[in-house]
This record gives sequence, C-alpha cells and structure tokens, in this order.
Amino acid sequence: MRDWEGISAAISAATGPPFVTRHSRAVGGGCINEAACLEGDGARYFVKFNQRDRLPMFEAEAAGLAALSDSGTIRAPRPVATGVDGKRAWLAMEYIELGPISPQSSAALGRQLAAMHRCSATFFGWSRDNTIGATPQLNMQTDSWIEFYREQRLHYQLRLAQENGAPARLYDNGQRLMEVLSVFFGSYNPVPSLLHGDLWGGNAAADQSGRPVLFDPAVYYGDREADLAMTELFGGFDDRFYQSYRDTWDIDPGYSTRKVLYNLYHVLNHYNLFGGAYAGQAEDMVARLLAHI
Ligand code: ADP
Repeated sequence: MRDWEGISAAISAATGPPFVTRHSRAVGGGCINEAACLEGDGARYFVKFNQRDRLPMFEAEAAGLAALSDSGTIRAPRPVATGVDGKRAWLAMEYIELGPISPQSSAALGRQLAAMHRCSATFFGWSRDNTIGATPQLNMQTDSWIEFYREQRLHYQLRLAQENGAPARLYDNGQRLMEVLSVFFGSYNPVPSLLHGDLWGGNAAADQSGRPVLFDPAVYYGDREADLAMTELFGGFDDRFYQSYRDTWDIDPGYSTRKVLYNLYHVLNHYNLFGGAYAGQAEDMVARLLAHI
C-alpha cells in the first residue's frame, strides 16, 4: 500500500524487523487526532495523525508514553517512531486491543496508579513542554509546587481564556485566587509524582487479559492529587479504583478542597478548546475556592 510506505519504513528502522503494511483501518474515538491501525506480517501498530506542524506535540506524547511505560508500574503503549509524511505529522506506537475496565481491573488500576505516583523526581515539571488536548502545557522545572501550579498551570490558562474572550471577571477573580494559593496547602507538602496528566475515563482501558492501560498522556511531575482530581471531573472510575488507590497510598484530607483547584485547570482548558459554558463553570469553581478564604 503505497500510502503507508514511508511510515512503514520508519517503523522498520525503529524496530528492526522489516514491516510492510498489508492492511489498514481507521480508528475513531479520539478527541484531537485521526488514527489508524496498520497491520502486516503478524505485527500491528496504532498511528495517530495531525497537521505537519504538530510534530512536536507527537514527539512530546511519545516521550510521555515512554515515561509511563518505563516506570514499570502500569501498562502504556510503547511509542515506536514519529515523523512527517507529506502534509501530516504522525506518531506510531504499539497497538493494544483495548476493552472496558472490569471491577478487577479497576482495583488493579488504583494500585498501579498509586505505584506510578511513587515514581518521583527532584523538581516539578518535566524535561519538555507538551500539550493538554491541543493546548500547550508548560513544564519548566521548578522547586515549588505552588509556584509551578500558579504560573504554569492556572496563570497560563487564565491568560489564554482572557485572549479567547472569557468575561473579565474570570481573570480578575482568578488573579485573586492565584495570590492566595498557599492557603489551600497549609502543612500539605506534595512530592513530585510521575503524572499521567490527562486522566479522564476516556484515556484508561484494559487489555485483553484485563491489565489496566493508560494512553494519551500529558506527562509531568506534579502533585498526585491533580491526577486523582481529574478522574472525578468527568467520572468513569468506580469505588474499587479509589479504595485500592487509598489502600496503597492514602490521600490527605485537604484533597477534597484542592481537587476543585486542580480541576479548574482542566475546565479552563476546556473553555480554551471548546468555548461556551465552560467559562461559567470555571467562574463558579473560582468563587467556591475563594469562599474558603
Ligand atoms: P486523541 O489524541 O485524538 O484523543 P487517543 O490517543 O485518545 O486520541 O486515541 C483514540 C482512541 O484510540 C482511544 O480512545 C482508544 O480507544 C484507541 N487507542 C488509543 N491508543 C491505542 C493503542 N495504542 N492501541 C489501540 N487503540 C488505541
């Protein structure tokens, strides 16, 4: 199949054995990219596509998948290669037949996520910037979590929301929130944990033997509560997941307030990606947080 020659050759160069695509099919379900499954001679690869200038996004995603997979704590697709092909940038990775998470897989997911969060660094941030959805996500390495979260998470998204036409009230109240951020932490001192970074239910599944799989990450080292908070934002994770997470690594009581702070980042990002009612939702969250002061 002529269309796949360049990508197939790059996969061969990365993996060793020659790979020729004999069969391809489109895979739906993604929010940002187009995707296909390439098959040939007993091998299968999952390939994501976007515009040519999106290559850095795919390079960062490949590095994130490698970080999760290399942690040895949870299954994530192994990245194989990235490149450009005509007008398209692409990312090829291991194809994993994915299915829903059973109750048993759910308990394993909680345990394995806690183990992943035990993988630590000496800084908050990462080795490179990446994206959250299609929005740039800054990861400059920083010693202070509060400073990192204020500047590289909240401030970045608030400024973007302002540029995208959100009501001035959102930026002004967000500014007030950023000034008092330390109040939400008290004596809680998060360690830098390896995070998935975009952990909604659509980015977790199970393989054919029931092992949990995480994919489509926005990896950085940060407070593990940020990952947990996102699991609650759109649902999809059951009690067994939370119970086994807590049994493996208990959660600080202040999480119940901080989760609103952490999900504010994702709601602002949703406003910046999709517009509409997310601005109002973000305003409500800021108001709820300011009511604690
Ligand atoms: P997007 O970046 O566009 O959101 P995703 O990475 O979430 O795309 O992938 C889209 C869908 O493709 C997922 O919901 C999942 O069902 C499937 N998928 C993702 N990664 C793999 C993989 N490595 N192997 C097989 N299917 C995958």
